Amino acid sequence: MNEQLTLETITALAKRRGFVYQTSEIYGGLASSYDYGPLGTELLRNIKDKWWQEMIRKKADMIGLDSQILLHPQTWVASGHVASFTDPLVEDKVTHKRYRADHLIETWLAQQPNPPKLVVEEMDVAAMGAFIAENKVLSPEGNPVTAPKEFNILFETAVGAIEGEKSKVYLRGETAQGIFTNFRQVLDSSRVKLPFGIGQIGKSFRNEITTGQFVFRTLEFEQAEIEYFFDPEQTDWHTLFEEWQQRMWHFVVNTLGVREENLRWRRHSDKERSHYSRETFDLDYRFPFGFKELWGVAYRTDYDLQQHIQHSGAKLSYKDPFSGKTFVPHVIEPAVGINRLFLMLLCDAYWHDAENKRTVLRFKPDLAPYKTAVFPLLRNKPELVQKAQQVYEAIAPHHTTTWDDRGNIGKRYYYQDEIGTPFCITIDFETLEDNSVTVRHRDTTAQDRVSIDQLLNYLQDQL
Ligand code: ATP
Repeated sequence: MNEQLTLETITALAKRRGFVYQTSEIYGGLASSYDYGPLGTELLRNIKDKWWQEMIRKKADMIGLDSQILLHPQTWVASGHVASFTDPLVEDKVTHKRYRADHLIETWLAQQPNPPKLVVEEMDVAAMGAFIAENKVLSPEGNPVTAPKEFNILFETAVGAIEGEKSKVYLRGETAQGIFTNFRQVLDSSRVKLPFGIGQIGKSFRNEITTGQFVFRTLEFEQAEIEYFFDPEQTDWHTLFEEWQQRMWHFVVNTLGVREENLRWRRHSDKERSHYSRETFDLDYRFPFGFKELWGVAYRTDYDLQQHIQHSGAKLSYKDPFSGKTFVPHVIEPAVGINRLFLMLLCDAYWHDAENKRTVLRFKPDLAPYKTAVFPLLRNKPELVQKAQQVYEAIAPHHTTTWDDRGNIGKRYYYQDEIGTPFCITIDFETLEDNSVTVRHRDTTAQDRVSIDQLLNYLQDQL
């Protein structure tokens, strides 16, 4: 673990090398909003492809969906978001900056030599208000804050061209509701039978109060959510829940290559858990700012489908094809943010060798934005450049590769290490004689001489 790794180090590297940029930087930026640069785009895509492959394509009981960001507004009334998708908001009485009351209390507790035993997640707004008043909890600027109030984090917008006749809609606060509202259509149009799951990846929007957590918490983000439907009389939910926990753990550790010591499970207490959930666990990752939720899994019973039945009148029940029993299925929901997986990977892969002044992103090779980099030893030697171009063209259809002919080889290695490229291929004068290239390994800096005829096989064995 990079004990001293700070969020600032990761943010600076991400910007310097084109993983993440501040949104609209030329206009001064927008709070908690980021764009993904050339390398970040590749990494995000790799994460999503892996999730889709492992969670949907490899499983016979899983199917995919792509529902809209704008849904009928009643969806969010039925789901409970309009009434209670809130965060506890306080305002600095002097600067008028806004903060989350629970976060201020957490910071205050962390600063106490003997903090009282308190689970902030279990406190309601009134309890937070009383605590802030009693302990004189201040804003980060050192000023008193207002009493906390519930602030709805759903984004509102409007459909229609004529002022006064526009109707209010919401940018979805989670992708899950699009799965519930399509439940009937999926049953009618496919041959699925319980138990089965529907998964989707897509943008969600939350008017978050907290700023300054880089891509951990943003206004616009991407979620990968699954609703796994089952008959609670046929399938034991405890077993199913544990199976999902294992799948999540396996994905993070084996597919994404994250170190287990940086992961933990956190069970929600009865007080913290949403009223409709019978069990909730968070899979937490040790970010530079502490263990925080990466991925949540909840047993939501039949709550959501029942709510939509009530509000829409639609028949969202399931008829068992064998017994003829008709009932509303229950669900287990594993929900993760792609951008949190992304930040986790940057942090977990980060490695700094102070002695050799070398920074390396040790991504699993198949996750790296570029798998290889191709270098002609000298860029003013046309015979080398031409040969290197041939190598590049032979490789490019098979995996992401990049070209670099700037500066000396040492500088090129340094740059590729910092962006996590596992293999650098150099075309030199020897290549012109024996058709071999140097392949240099990112993690060990070891170098192999490989014949161009064997190069693709050699690389594919290691990717
Ligand atoms: P938190 O407690 O951190 O606000 P949450 O419990 O509200 O998260 P869920 O509603 O369970 O989050 O959403 C599922 C997943 O979506 C989370 O585990 C997280 O990975 C991701 N997520 C939620 N909010 C954000 C956000 N503002 N920015 C980035 N990812 C998010």
